[in-house]
Amino acid sequence: MTDNITKILEKKEFTRSDLVILLNENSPDGIEKIRSKAYSIMKENIGEEVFLRGLIEFSNVCHNDCYYCGIRKSNKNIKRYTLEDKEIIESALWCAEQGYGSLVLQSGERQDKAFIDLVVNLVKKIKKETRSDKLPDGLGITLCVGEQSKDIYKQFFDAGAHRYLLRIETSNPELYKNLHPDLQSFHNRVKCLDYLKEVGFQVGTGVMIGLPHQTTEDLADDILFFKNYDIDMIGMGPFIVHKDTPLNYLFDVYLKKKRYIYELSLKMIAITRIFLKDVNIASTTALQAMYPMGREAGLMFGANVIMPLLTPNKVRKEYQLYDGKPCIDEFSNDCFDCIQLRIESTGRSVAFNVYGDSKHFTHK
Ligand code: SAH
Repeated sequence: MTDNITKILEKKEFTRSDLVILLNENSPDGIEKIRSKAYSIMKENIGEEVFLRGLIEFSNVCHNDCYYCGIRKSNKNIKRYTLEDKEIIESALWCAEQGYGSLVLQSGERQDKAFIDLVVNLVKKIKKETRSDKLPDGLGITLCVGEQSKDIYKQFFDAGAHRYLLRIETSNPELYKNLHPDLQSFHNRVKCLDYLKEVGFQVGTGVMIGLPHQTTEDLADDILFFKNYDIDMIGMGPFIVHKDTPLNYLFDVYLKKKRYIYELSLKMIAITRIFLKDVNIASTTALQAMYPMGREAGLMFGANVIMPLLTPNKVRKEYQLYDGKPCIDEFSNDCFDCIQLRIESTGRSVAFNVYGDSKHFTHK
């Protein structure tokens, strides 16, 4: 039955319909073939080391109103926060001491001057204060603070950030439109990727998997989009329903399709790895939110980046993009202790004190 899969996996280049066939493969044998091919492509092109980026969700204030997201501006059931510089720097120093090498600063979207200044100053401070013998230029900084103008992106880059994540959420403009208010345009989101590239960032994007009305053809187009846009880093994960969003009526459907969406997400990682080869691919927290060992599974399917959560415990529960986010109770220390063990349990090792840049970018 899976002979066809073997044949496709032996090809040098995939067509769109090859991608769709791979995404539609649901037999355990076929999925294992895809996984194992992805793993060997990863090994050949970028090795087996896993890079860490400490994730600090420094503010949940957001001016956007995405229909799927728990921190959308219309959600009145969360307390809005912005961490103090001091708290963020403390987490950054902790991150550097652990040897993580890089940090992701993520927040809701704001374009006002106070926010831009806050980000620019934070980046400068973190770069300066985390310098050490092991990291002479300080931590590597990835920003994930949404759509901005080209000039603002340049200010962020000049301050010292060198990677940027901006998910397009889906490459299908129709689907995008159904998930966002009219003010938020797909066209602008994609234009921002151009700006980021022009400014000199290593650019990351990604999509959600299992969105309402999304087909495997759409997902194949997502992978083609990553290729055509020459993307350096990918962060994808399952769409998970949040109770305080307009999509909460999908909860029963989500429960029924959970296993399918989880497996589809792992296949997306593997097929993206096979198709794009040398990019960085994150195994995202949303996978872990679905199933406790989801991030480890992502690594087995060809991901090479993990983003341990460093957000201070007291605000973690206010930054729930989706329901079931792991490690949000007061006493859990997520990743502080267990991340290295979790990664090593998959037979991989962690690369400490390196930026872990995308080989796809450094090869350019
Ligand atoms: N506002 C910033 C970053 C915060 S949101 C930005 O847009 O860049 C980070 C990502 O979380 C989003 O891009 C989206 O893909 C994901 N996300 C939001 N709600 C989600 C949900 N309900 N299920 C799964 N992922 C979600």
